Amino acid sequence: MVEEKMDIVFVGHVDHGKSTVIGRLLADTDSLPDGKLELVQNTCKQNNEPFEYAYLIDALKDERAQSITIDSARVFFQSDKRHYIIIDAPGHIEFIKNMVTGAARAEAAVLVIDANEGVMENSRRHGYLLGMLGIKQVLILINKMDIAGFDQKVFENIKKEYLKFLTDINIEPMDFIPVSGKFGDNLTSPSKLTSWYKGKTLLESLDRFEKISSDKNTPFRMPVQDIYKFSNYGDNRRILVGTPTSGRLNIGDEIVFYPSGKHNNIKTFESYKSTSPESILTGQASGFTLKDQIFVKRGEVVCKANERAPMISTKIRASVFWLGNNPLSINKSYIIKLGTSRVEGQIGEIHRVTDADSLRASEKKRISRHEIAEVTINFKIPIVFELSETHNDLSRFVILDEQQIWGGGIILEAIQDDDEKLREGVFTRNSQWIRSQVTYKDRVERNNQHSSLLLITGQQNSGRKKLASMLETKLFLEGKQIYYLGVGSILYGLNADIKRDDAVEWKEHIRRISELAYIFMDSGTILVMTAVELTQEDLHVIDSIVGPKKVKVAWVGDDVTTDIEFDLHVNVNMNFENSVVKIKELLMDQGAIFKL
Ligand code: GDP
Repeated sequence: MVEEKMDIVFVGHVDHGKSTVIGRLLADTDSLPDGKLELVQNTCKQNNEPFEYAYLIDALKDERAQSITIDSARVFFQSDKRHYIIIDAPGHIEFIKNMVTGAARAEAAVLVIDANEGVMENSRRHGYLLGMLGIKQVLILINKMDIAGFDQKVFENIKKEYLKFLTDINIEPMDFIPVSGKFGDNLTSPSKLTSWYKGKTLLESLDRFEKISSDKNTPFRMPVQDIYKFSNYGDNRRILVGTPTSGRLNIGDEIVFYPSGKHNNIKTFESYKSTSPESILTGQASGFTLKDQIFVKRGEVVCKANERAPMISTKIRASVFWLGNNPLSINKSYIIKLGTSRVEGQIGEIHRVTDADSLRASEKKRISRHEIAEVTINFKIPIVFELSETHNDLSRFVILDEQQIWGGGIILEAIQDDDEKLREGVFTRNSQWIRSQVTYKDRVERNNQHSSLLLITGQQNSGRKKLASMLETKLFLEGKQIYYLGVGSILYGLNADIKRDDAVEWKEHIRRISELAYIFMDSGTILVMTAVELTQEDLHVIDSIVGPKKVKVAWVGDDVTTDIEFDLHVNVNMNFENSVVKIKELLMDQGAIFKL
């Protein structure tokens, strides 16, 4: 029995014949459901229009709900050697989206060029994109040879032109094949009409593509897709779901979540089937429960404790491809999706911009539609990634602008950021954290609130302390677990061993204050802290240690004298009570206090 599977993407300029070639390939390899070909042919006859093999693909897609032959934009067929999953990539965006979101993990590509139109812009752009996304196995079909009279010269000229382009972008194609999708020449059997062509057919060539074997020693990686909570009938299970992108995981294995550093052990694998597996492998959508209940989020990456760690940074060098109508600009915020995480990032620097068609390079301040660039990206929080080819899923990403995917890229290098030490500290703390029997969730249920760190900052004598104290009293009387802690109380106590008026030492003050706040967060408390003129840099450290979602900032006073990005600007001179109400609303919006 044939067991091996391979994902192949078909690309090419519109109307150059991708769907026709795929349709004909399915028909000639008997891969269509019974009667499908006749059905589509009859429909064409009834409608008085010529039959097209491309209609088969549309017809299969239409019935994807009932048929197992097709699922979204994928078509399946089989040769003597293996099963093929063909990904139809109608446009650049779909292609990038499929490639990066893992919907398709193409190991090889077939690029279709119309013999009569020759190499078009998109033939070049698609080629570039394949190279950029690390798809090294490429086969070129020069299609519609029937219209070109099966002329060898036409074939050779296009081959020569496109080969030069591919060589320029470092792609070594496996072969160029003269074909006719419409008449089936050189698809599954050699054509008599191209006696000058001594090479292989499309089907033979597909079988020559090599499987990129994920080596047995490749470390396990699984981006967390979701966490299912079951609370019915005393079922307290939390099931973490996702699809391993490499490696193998067994029951009992010790795992580490990155970037948080939380440790745990696999208790069970969950399955809808009657028997649950003992281990899970690359590509298998899986669910599992943990030995101890811990809080982890979608987007974290599950790794094995005894294997190599993934890379983590807030700064990377990457190659990006942009398709947006608005240019990709420096210092504008975009959402970047990598694995299952979505992180805000900005282009910090543009090193080089290349036109994907002409391959001309230039220095620019922004990246326009269809351009490719080498850039530095700064992320708001650390991302977890890989650089090796066996971990494509964790090295490719898409870029969203206003919730739409407009570009994609591949990570070339990790750049060391200033936070590395800080992150290591948090990671070690999390991995060494001793868990109590009473979980954070138990505390949320009992206290009827989530924990939160509210920073009240502003100039000297702006009323911060009075405001914090009033807020504490009000919420305390309402039954909340709240604690007001002035930074001064820590500087002269917990931090008494470090200098107070020293810029270098200040970072250590902030680190300790943040670690203290973290303990309060774990205890389920709303912690109100007052400090004079906190800066964005201070907030960045606090966010890194406490977790940005937990932290809210209120600036008190007319003048804003630092660069801190606050959530609320209050002017207590107007009315303290009013300000307390506004802060309470802020905590409600954050979800710390539940709205009734
Ligand atoms: P796609 O946009 O790349 O999927 O292109 P289609 O497969 O839809 O083909 C576009 C048009 O080219 C259709 O009208 C096809 O009938 C025609 N076509 C595709 N392949 C061939 C071929 O080998 N010979 C001829 N004569 N026409 C073809």
